[in-house]
Amino acid sequence: MEINLISDTVTRPSNEMLQYMFHAKVGDDVFKQDPTVLEFEQTVAQLFGKEDALFFPSGTMANQTALKIHTNPGDEVICDKWSHIYLYEGGGAAANSGISCKLIDGTRGMITAQQVSQAINDPENIHLAYTKLVSIENTTNKGGGACYNLLELQKIKEICTQNNLAYHLDGARLWNALIAKKQHPTQFGALFDTISVCFSKGLGAPVGSVLLGSKEQIKKAYRVRKLFGGGMRQAGYLAAAGMYALQHNVARLEEDHKRAKELGNQLQQLEWVHKVEEVETNIVIFTVRTGLEEKWVIEKLKQKNIHISSMGEGKLRIVTHLDYKPVMHSYVQEHLQKIKF
Ligand SMILES: *Cc1c(COP(=O)(O)O)cnc(C)c1O
Repeated sequence: MEINLISDTVTRPSNEMLQYMFHAKVGDDVFKQDPTVLEFEQTVAQLFGKEDALFFPSGTMANQTALKIHTNPGDEVICDKWSHIYLYEGGGAAANSGISCKLIDGTRGMITAQQVSQAINDPENIHLAYTKLVSIENTTNKGGGACYNLLELQKIKEICTQNNLAYHLDGARLWNALIAKKQHPTQFGALFDTISVCFSKGLGAPVGSVLLGSKEQIKKAYRVRKLFGGGMRQAGYLAAAGMYALQHNVARLEEDHKRAKELGNQLQQLEWVHKVEEVETNIVIFTVRTGLEEKWVIEKLKQKNIHISSMGEGKLRIVTHLDYKPVMHSYVQEHLQKIKF
């Protein structure tokens, strides 16, 4: 039994999902003739109360497209120093859109309205880049699956409105926040200009993200997606996986959260663990006591076929997901208890 807890992207499509994909009606989606993609886009748009949506091969491409439609070269986007759009998209903000990131020193990947307010450049000052966009991540990835307070997001929205800034949500794991905080997608749809959501993380589809926005924004995004090489032909097979995931795998995220919390509580009690960050969703981040190296922990668990990852700076990460079954959970709990250094 191999237990892979390095990410929630490691899931494989279930037989039921594959059957559903197999039966999809498809067409050429570059010509907007794939009925399954069109239906999927409309379903997700309606769920969030947005006008329109566009299917993407990856979350990175959906985010990068959002950056491009909201900015011109030379502009600046405000985001947390740990945000995926800055750290983990290969420098795409600069390479694809010619923009710079104004990094905010947030808490667990989350920024405040006050910090945003202070980071906006005066558009009258010719020395400074135009601030055009604020990008938020919920849940935060490097922040350990932390969820924003909706009130703070509303305050940031007000600042965006006052300063004529676009407001983007990188919602790769927004599903986890919706379940953990018992929120509704329309609450986010009402706040943000654009939202990217992912179907290949916690929801277990093999591929696929969706970008949501107004008709006009999605029209621009359609062109940018082509420019980025993301126009796919019979993509309905993939959209079908997303549709299946939406129908069957959202409510069950609760189970992933419960198991992550249990692991967090257990780790907290172990003498070789220094500190466990608060577990809000499906990500557990912890540090080991001084003198102990992360790689020793990774190696020791690997010998028991349990795979976890390092985040650098002395941090280790465990991510629970759809393919992490109860029997694996008991096994991991048992072996964490047995480890000695
Ligand atoms: C994984 C992730 C993405 C990008 O998703 P890919 O489909 O892997 O490109 C974007 N944002 C966040 C916060 C993520 O965790």
